[in-house]
Amino acid sequence: MQLPEALPKKEYVLVIDDTQPNLHLLITMLTRRGYQVIGVSDSLKAVSTAQTEMPDLVVLDINMPNMNGFQVCEQLKSSDRTRDIPVIFISARDEVLDKVQAFAVGGVDYITKPFQIAEVLARVENQLTLRRLQRQLQEQNERLKQEINSRIIAETLLQEANEKLGRLVNLDGLTQLANRRCFDEYLDQEWQRLARERLPLSLIMCDIDFFKNYNDTYGHVAGDDCLRKVSLLIKQSVHRPADLVARYGGEEFVIVLPNTDIEGSIAIAEIIRQSLQELAIPHEDSAVSQLVTLSMGVTSLVPVTDSHPSVLLTAADYALYRAKELGRNQTYQIG
Ligand code: GH3
Ligand code: MG
Ligand code: MG
Repeated sequence: MQLPEALPKKEYVLVIDDTQPNLHLLITMLTRRGYQVIGVSDSLKAVSTAQTEMPDLVVLDINMPNMNGFQVCEQLKSSDRTRDIPVIFISARDEVLDKVQAFAVGGVDYITKPFQIAEVLARVENQLTLRRLQRQLQEQNERLKQEINSRIIAETLLQEANEKLGRLVNLDGLTQLANRRCFDEYLDQEWQRLARERLPLSLIMCDIDFFKNYNDTYGHVAGDDCLRKVSLLIKQSVHRPADLVARYGGEEFVIVLPNTDIEGSIAIAEIIRQSLQELAIPHEDSAVSQLVTLSMGVTSLVPVTDSHPSVLLTAADYALYRAKELGRNQTYQIG
């Protein structure tokens, strides 16, 4: 029979057959077809040869002494290294049960002897094509997985950067309270909302008494530490989700209390003053106490849409000024 023209192929085929003439015939025709071929006639050496040579395909006889083809195939399939190598059985046994078993142990095709050379070549080529496509798919999958991973990493980094930016934009670095910018936006938003709902909006402005003296006595580091303690205390004194505590300036804090009337706001201011008393931060150079104290201006009103929240701020600021004027360490109310 005329063999088709040999094509340059790099694929590596391992032929395992104990019958020398068969082995030689298979080796010759596969080599002429352009494959790289290695032959093994002793089935006991077949598995170790496959392990070291790592062929792209195995052509495997069934009837062999010592270890038959099914056993060889089982061993190939039980090792991670050789599991994916396709195995084509080639055998004189033409029983249906043999074919069933051949597929059961992991074979991908079955050729009966005496074989037609063209058929063997076609089946070998078929399996190698499948294997090439399978590898391409695996590589594509791998690339896709890597791309997805890179994207996930990039997105996570971006999200983290955005969150950090959001914090920087809205938080005061020293106290971790909302900053002035965040306060301004929130006050505007709540002003509009409560004007629509016709509910009261309260504001407390707090200012640490004689804080310049505190810095002069204990130093700026201790001053910063004191600011953090007072911030935490104020934050822990308000509980509703809509309440907002912000650092308004150096040692000034402001508390937005939506849907809270003047009595409720005074109560909160007094709790803060009381808690600060209990926290008992020493302040030797204060003219009103031996401890750090706060003066507070409280104001409350029901907003109207055609006026501006600065009305509330001015009133709170004036109330604070009055509290200072009247002797500090106290709350003054307007509203
Ligand atoms: P008063 O009772 O009238 O409020 O007196 P005061 O000294 O607290 O007020 P004044 O406005 O004269 O001084 C505020 C001081 O707060 C000035 C500055 O030393 C201190 N201060 C402002 N911001 C910071 C800060 O971030 N860290 C520290 N350590 N001190 C600050
Ligand atoms: Mg001040
Ligand atoms: Mg002060």
